[in-house]
Parts: sequence; C-alpha cells; structure tokens
Amino acid sequence: MKTPSPFLPMTRAELGSVELDVLLVTGDAYVDHPSFGAALLGRWLKAHGYRVGVIAQPRWDSPDDIRRLGRPRLFAGVSAGALDSMLAHYTAFRKKRHDDAYTPGGCAGARPNRACIVYAGLIKRAFPGMPVILGGIEASLRRAAHYDFWTDALRRSILLDSKADLLVYGMGERAILEIAERLRKGKDIEGIPGTAFVRREDDPQAARLPSFEEIQSHPKLLMKGTLALERQMLNGGWASQKHADRNVIFAPPAEPLGTQELDKLYSLPFTRRAHPSYKQKIPAVEMIQFSLASHRGCAGGCSFCSLALHQGRRIASRSRRSIEEEARALTRHPDWKGSITDLGGPSANMWGASCAVGPEQCRRASCLTPSICPHFQDSQDALADMLRFLKTLPGVRHVRVASGVRHDLALRSGKYLRALIGEFTGGQLKLAPEHSCGRVLRLMRKPGFKSFTEFLAVFERESSARGKEQYVVPYLVSAFPGCTDSDMRELSKWLKARGWRPQQAQCFIPTPGTVASAMYHAGIDPDGRAIEVARSDAERNRQHRILVGG
Ligand code: SF4
Repeated sequence: MKTPSPFLPMTRAELGSVELDVLLVTGDAYVDHPSFGAALLGRWLKAHGYRVGVIAQPRWDSPDDIRRLGRPRLFAGVSAGALDSMLAHYTAFRKKRHDDAYTPGGCAGARPNRACIVYAGLIKRAFPGMPVILGGIEASLRRAAHYDFWTDALRRSILLDSKADLLVYGMGERAILEIAERLRKGKDIEGIPGTAFVRREDDPQAARLPSFEEIQSHPKLLMKGTLALERQMLNGGWASQKHADRNVIFAPPAEPLGTQELDKLYSLPFTRRAHPSYKQKIPAVEMIQFSLASHRGCAGGCSFCSLALHQGRRIASRSRRSIEEEARALTRHPDWKGSITDLGGPSANMWGASCAVGPEQCRRASCLTPSICPHFQDSQDALADMLRFLKTLPGVRHVRVASGVRHDLALRSGKYLRALIGEFTGGQLKLAPEHSCGRVLRLMRKPGFKSFTEFLAVFERESSARGKEQYVVPYLVSAFPGCTDSDMRELSKWLKARGWRPQQAQCFIPTPGTVASAMYHAGIDPDGRAIEVARSDAERNRQHRILVGG
C-alpha cells in the first residue's frame, strides 16, 4: 500500500479521489514549517478534522492551477505570503527586486503584484460562488483605507478591491476555525471576531472611522483612522469605515491563543521541509528550519512595524515544556546539524511577558516607550534559564538568538543579558536602535538612544570578560517621517566617531496600515502636529547617502 504523504496535498495524486473542505492559496512556496502561514493554518484546520489542500504560487494568467485540487466543499483562503506582495517586489526606491526568499531558487517573479486581489479573482473564476476569505499580512494591514507607497495614492479596503467575502485580520487560527464550522453548518459568516466584512448598512455599535472619501479630501484623517484601528487591536470593540455607499465593518479582534492552544498548534506534525515537488532550494527554509517560536505579539508598538501591528501588542507565549519538546524533536530530524538557530518571536525577549492590569482600557501606544510601563511584567530571567536548558539537551551543540533583541527591556535583567551575550550570540547580535535623534526615535516609538549606548557598553564589557570577539550589528533607518538631513548627519557623526560603517541601513518604506505610513502621507505626527517628510526620491536618497556615506 502507498504510504500517505506527510505534507498537506498540493497535487491530485497526493489528494486522491476525495474532496477538499478548504483550499489555501498562498504567494509563498509551500514549506511545511510553522513559520509559514499556509502550513500553520492548514495543519490547524486538519487537526480539527478538515481536509485541507494547498496551492502555492499558482500561475495567474489562467485559473487552471487553482482548479488542480478540485472545488473545495467550504471555502478558499487566500494569502499573499509572509510579506505584502508589493514590499516583496520593490525596493525603497520602487525598483524591482530580483530575489525572493520564499520562492524556490530565491528568484522573484513567482507571485503577482497585489497577490490577494489577483488570487481572489482567479478563485472566483475557477469556482463561481465559492466563499473567498483573505488573510495574512497583506490583507490584514490593507483592511481599511490605506496609503499605498508604490502608487503614491490612497487605496480602498482590500476587501472591496478583491471582492472577497470576508477578511481575517491578525493571527487567524480562531477565526478560520469558526469560518469553517459556520460554513459546515450552513450558517452565515459575518461578525466573527478577528474578521472584516462589507455591508450596505452601517453597524450602530461600531466606532466610525473617517470614510475613504473623507480621507481622500483630508489626508490628515488617515492618522485618525489608523490610530483608531491600532487601538481596536488592543482594546477590542467594533469599528466601521464607509467607502461610497458601502461600509467595511471590523468585528472585534480575536482573543490571542492561550498557552495550551499555542502548545497544541506547535506540536502538530510539521515536517519542517519544503514540499518535495520543489527542485530548487528555498532560502527561507535554510534560515528558519531549526528555529523555534517562543511567543507571538510585540509590546513595543513601534510605529513602522507591520509584523507587530499584525500580531498585536498582547503577548501570547508557549509553555516551556512545549518549547523543550519541540527542541527535542528537532534533534531527531533527519536534516538536524546540531544548532537551534533562533528562539524568539517578533522580538527575542518578550516570551512570558504580560500586562498586570489587562490591556482593555489601556490608552498607551506602547508598553515600552517613552518608558517601560509599570504594569509590564517580563520573564527574562526564566527565558535565560530556558535558553541554558535547551543547550544541555543531547544532540544540541548551539542555541542562538537571531530574533531582534529589545535592548531597553534586556537591560532590566542582568541574568538575561549575561546569558545572551556570553552564551547565545553567534558572533553578531542584531539590534535595532534605528536612529540616534531623540525626536525621530519618539516618532518611531523606539526607546531613547541612551538605552542603546548602555546596552553597547554592557555588550562590550561582557564579551571581553569572556574573551569573545563579537559585534553588535545596528539596524538603522533613513528618511523616516520627521527626520531631517541634519538628524541624519547627527547619526552619521556618531557612527563615524565609533568607526562604524552601517551594514544594515534601510531607507524608510511606508508599509500599509502603519502609523508611520500615516505620518508619511499626512505630514503630521500622531498628535496632529506638522512634521517634515522626505518624500521625493531625491530627498530620500540624500538622507540615505548621508547615512551610508555614498
Ligand atoms: S497598561 Fe501598560 S503593560 Fe498593560 S497594555 Fe497598557 S502599556 Fe502595556
């Protein structure tokens, strides 16, 4: 008898003659690893009794690829992949990228621009009447009227442009199960927590965001709408936004998964490999195959970060037992070479963190800036213990921390700092001070530069005490809204004084849905005060050259 494939089916041969319940269409290659959304949600649905298939990076000149596994019984889910497709395709100066870490061979061109809209259209053509559900970061952050850097224009909610039936925002496990359950029972799917949908009539209980047309006439209103949606992610409640004669209604966000649920999710039988149909290597697999996710969410609330906005500020953590079990399983993997390449989440050191009072009434935009909130509780001593324990597991030679460390938080725990610097930094430690100028850092909602220099001093002291030659690699940004040429010179001067040439310098890209993007478009800070914005390519390029010394 033929052994069943350990992967979710991508081909008719793997699926056999049965009918799918759910089809997932994704802009990334299918890698059966929990860092890939289609694998994560596909496995989650499968564990709850649904038959799921994956169509990864379909051709978009005809719906034939979409039809490969037949018409699913319940719905088709669509994601552009791990990144917004426009961000995946274009640089900060709107030049085409040639590489794509989520595609076989690492070559760009396997997914279309605005992948959610294109895939939703293909599914409608392939399977008329089939409910189409958008999800993932592209859909999530374009769920309301948003600024699109690549066309330098305000765009409508992606729900309207895609004509999808529903949009899942944030992490989708709860919502996707409820959608499947309701459709299985023949019920309607409006109002599920963590989703958005379109209606002619407004919802009387919803907080009204400025409409698309109002923002078009008064760009400053984009800030109001963006801040309101950001707050909704933390505080809950309904919201709505009018687009001409229709309303996009945002149901309250889904509760983050609890520890037991996360443990269950990460214990599913991921093969941690790319689907065997791929002939070329997928660069992202090399990077993440033996990494472990400890938690979701980021309390930092940085104004430019899409990932943190998508996952929300509430931290959801796995149990130490579950992480240890997964680490043990890694050592039995046929490709295992001895190194856990990362333990982290959107940030490295927020595992186990919580809010002591509950975030429902919180009005702060960040738990960590301008200073760490007194209600914020971290668990970094316990994290250091866990990292050290993982290192003692049979078969584990190294454990590394590759996720970005939140340095202001790290300074609160000497134990974590010593462990991180002394035992878990593989020669280079990535940190994201982003800038040196206090005013720009406040607009970014990053900690003051002093905490970075304090961290550096500890890093250098601890490294030399242990006889280790290792370096901090600072991530820096030019042309952030509110940043002037003279602010860039200040940063450049500081770098030169240290003899540093920046290796990781990025010219700011306004990604959809973020507060920083609203600043860029509207030319105001979150309090409505006018700020200078380097908007033209020439201005942005000039700032960038000041930083990189070109
Ligand atoms: S009260 Fe403090 S810890 Fe809690 S969500 Fe608000 S800022 Fe974060």
